Amino acid sequence: MTTEAEPATDLEPVAEFRERARIWLRDNLPPAPPPEGDSYSEEAWNRARRLQRILYDGGFAGICFPVEYGGRGLTPAHQRAFTEESAPYEMPVLLNVPTLAICAASLLDLGTEEQKRAHLPAVLRGDEILVQFLSEPQGGSDLAGLTTRAERDGDRWILNGSKIWSSGAYAADYGLCLARTNWEVPKHRGLTMFLVPVHAEGVTVQRIKQVTGSTEFCQEFFDDVALPDDALLGEVDAGWDAASRLLNHERATLGGISPYTSGARPHLGGEADQLLKLARATGQLGDPRTREDIGEAHAMNVVRDQLIDHVTAAIASGALPPSAGSITRLFSAENAWLQTDMAMRIAGPSGATYTPGDPADTEKVGLDYLFRAAWSLAGGSTEMARNVISERVLGMPREYAADRDVPFNQVEKGRR
Ligand SMILES: Cc1cc2nc3c(=O)[nH]c(=O)nc-3n(C[C@H](O)[C@H](O)[C@H](O)COP(=O)(O)OP(=O)(O)OC[C@H]3O[C@@H](n4cnc5c(N)ncnc54)[C@H](O)[C@@H]3O)c2cc1C
Repeated sequence: MTTEAEPATDLEPVAEFRERARIWLRDNLPPAPPPEGDSYSEEAWNRARRLQRILYDGGFAGICFPVEYGGRGLTPAHQRAFTEESAPYEMPVLLNVPTLAICAASLLDLGTEEQKRAHLPAVLRGDEILVQFLSEPQGGSDLAGLTTRAERDGDRWILNGSKIWSSGAYAADYGLCLARTNWEVPKHRGLTMFLVPVHAEGVTVQRIKQVTGSTEFCQEFFDDVALPDDALLGEVDAGWDAASRLLNHERATLGGISPYTSGARPHLGGEADQLLKLARATGQLGDPRTREDIGEAHAMNVVRDQLIDHVTAAIASGALPPSAGSITRLFSAENAWLQTDMAMRIAGPSGATYTPGDPADTEKVGLDYLFRAAWSLAGGSTEMARNVISERVLGMPREYAADRDVPFNQVEKGRR
């Protein structure tokens, strides 16, 4: 019998909540996996919105979001129980990242009362999709060096520039956009976060086709986009604080410690039973190397889950800073690489070719292999995660940056 970590409050006990969720899920959600097809198509997004609405109407959306903004006001232990129970069902996982776990979580931290009341219930109902407009064509790691600009024009702001690698922007309603509002101060001090309507006049969204064939990413162009004052998220020129909070949510999400996602978390590295199924389907189960790989994958997943528990508890108690999410984020990326490579080794040459109706689904193995670099870039690269761990968790000296205290308009750019 499962022993639940009970919250020290008068909230519904986790074990009772789990039981109620189990019955509700059985009666209300379709079984997994979702129907075949492009997982980023318009139909897939509409399906995710509908499923989110079902969760909302059933009282299982936004389990850790406050009740006043449409959530359930419960604990991460309730969320975890729900996630475990939801495994056999189709869930609106498209809405997890970045809408719920990164953008809505940041809105909760940074938004005014009006912004929270306007957007959070809409997100939890599946009516609004939120995305991140952070990375720019000249580079994403040096986020504070961005050049998309917002200029004051009477009581509004005019936005110009371009963002890139925005996951799902073509399907979104709003983007959390970091822009430069002050060029006369060092780079971290002249930024402001805005909530930009994706369908506003002057916003052009172009989809980017990847080597896998997927068109999940977008590039946006902002041409004199007029934004009212209530599009500000946080204070003017305090955008780095806003971005830091958002990045903490992003690292937490990519590392598996966010309390705001429901359902499967593919970014945490595969489950060892997927390798087992693949080995069985390709006739490799007796191969000693394959058996070693499956054992190692299982061990890594045990370590990952323990690490997630440990880091979550340490951040909650204050023993580690929120940036410690970089530890689980780094581990998850390494684990995802490891297991993608193992799957490719087990699939052998068929991972590189396509056989219609292949029961081992080696086409997916090949596509996952092509996409694997994404796991060490999404949510900030693993190199940057190592920097965050060394500087902000271990307190080691900061990396040298020639532009740190220089007014941004005096920083030399594009010269060799
Ligand atoms: C799946 C996925 C989803 C994404 N979704 C979004 C999104 O929704 N919105 C968004 O804005 N962006 C998104 N991104 C972009 C992501 O944030 C960037 O890819 C990431 O920040 C790295 O930026 P870059 O690709 O421009 O690489 P660069 O910054 O150009 O870096 C190139 C390489 O140099 C290394 N490097 C750079 N600086 C340093 C340093 N100081 N020390 C050590 N190494 C360094 C990097 O680690 C990397 O390996 C997504 C990316 C992926 C893969």
